[in-house]
Amino acid sequence: MNIILVVIDGLGDRLVSELQNQTPLEAAATPNLDEFAEKGLTGTVDTFYSPEQGYPRSDTAHLALLGYDPEQDYLGRGPYEVAGIGMDLQQGDVALRANFGTVDENLMVKDRRADRISETQELVESLQGQEIKGVKFLVKKAYGHRAGLIMRSEKKLSAEVTNGDPHQTGVEVNRVEPEEDSEAAMFTAQVLNEFLEKAHEILKNHSFNEKRKEQDKLPGNYLLVRGAGQLENTESFTDKFGLKAACIAGGALYKGVGKLVGMDLINVPGDTGLPDTDLEAKFEAATRVTGDYEFVFVHVKPVDNLAEDGNFRGKKDFIEKIDRTIKPVLDLSDTLVAITADHSTCSALKRHCVDPVPIVIGDSEQDSVDEFSEEACEKGSLAEIKQKEIMNKLLKLAKVNQN
Ligand code: ZN
Repeated sequence: MNIILVVIDGLGDRLVSELQNQTPLEAAATPNLDEFAEKGLTGTVDTFYSPEQGYPRSDTAHLALLGYDPEQDYLGRGPYEVAGIGMDLQQGDVALRANFGTVDENLMVKDRRADRISETQELVESLQGQEIKGVKFLVKKAYGHRAGLIMRSEKKLSAEVTNGDPHQTGVEVNRVEPEEDSEAAMFTAQVLNEFLEKAHEILKNHSFNEKRKEQDKLPGNYLLVRGAGQLENTESFTDKFGLKAACIAGGALYKGVGKLVGMDLINVPGDTGLPDTDLEAKFEAATRVTGDYEFVFVHVKPVDNLAEDGNFRGKKDFIEKIDRTIKPVLDLSDTLVAITADHSTCSALKRHCVDPVPIVIGDSEQDSVDEFSEEACEKGSLAEIKQKEIMNKLLKLAKVNQN
């Protein structure tokens, strides 16, 4: 029996007074999801976060959802992002994510996104293939002001280095420091600092940035790097669970997570990961590839962004759109379909929050819950499950339904 796991990023929320004291999910008209909950099993998920994170993050939560242990298997944000934008990450490389930001002449950060610069292709090309002390720097444009950065060398590199991005404006950029007392970490930090200085020299004099300044726009004159990581020998999803797996996602991070656990990426034209994403095409792709694959991970992003903007109405509306388009997936036979979230995103707080998220699994058994919502699913027969237990639960149910 095949399994489809649909992850609606940031689905859970708190009561919103403007929505008659309902959550966006409760306020949304979701007849298809409610019917699916009525016929299947429901519960809530205790989403993964480590105490030092303070609240859940999409990257580690997704590892937990896919049955991995984030405390063991998390590689750092860089590797997932660069893999997700199609860079060829190799053993020994150090991968980082980067922003084109704006700094002043004293290297004080004026804007971490350089006025949300997006046409960065020329800037990227000007930095491409730099080599410092035997370390090659590969850069690739990502969405908007973002980019991926790979350091590659015959010499030993280490991802145990701090972020160059201070994560705030009005302060100086960070010097990258080694986070452990190893030659590799010291060398990596030193070479990376040299590269960032050189990149700044190139970027601040770049004609593209000169043109931006003439248009009263901030120049993208500094690479703010963070999330260094390296590949490790993570067991592939197929080896771990014995399932041939595919990933359908629009956002780079989610593609990267899928790719680095060994899933095949299914490209869906129009799946931008943004509110304009083609949901119909996405769900159609899921129904089409199920069968060729025993496990399909489908990631739906925009609900999270809308909540982070405080747009609870947009979140409610997008949930309704999901409900209108997901039916073909819910109707699949011989397929166990599960729908949940990686974490809650509280519209009022405009950030991720620790509240549990609902889960529904289509099954031959059913419980008394007849609505897909945070509160209704608390009464479900799955009770509260830990995020990293979900895969085992799905495998068990798929086996029972098979027999
Ligand atoms: Zn998320």
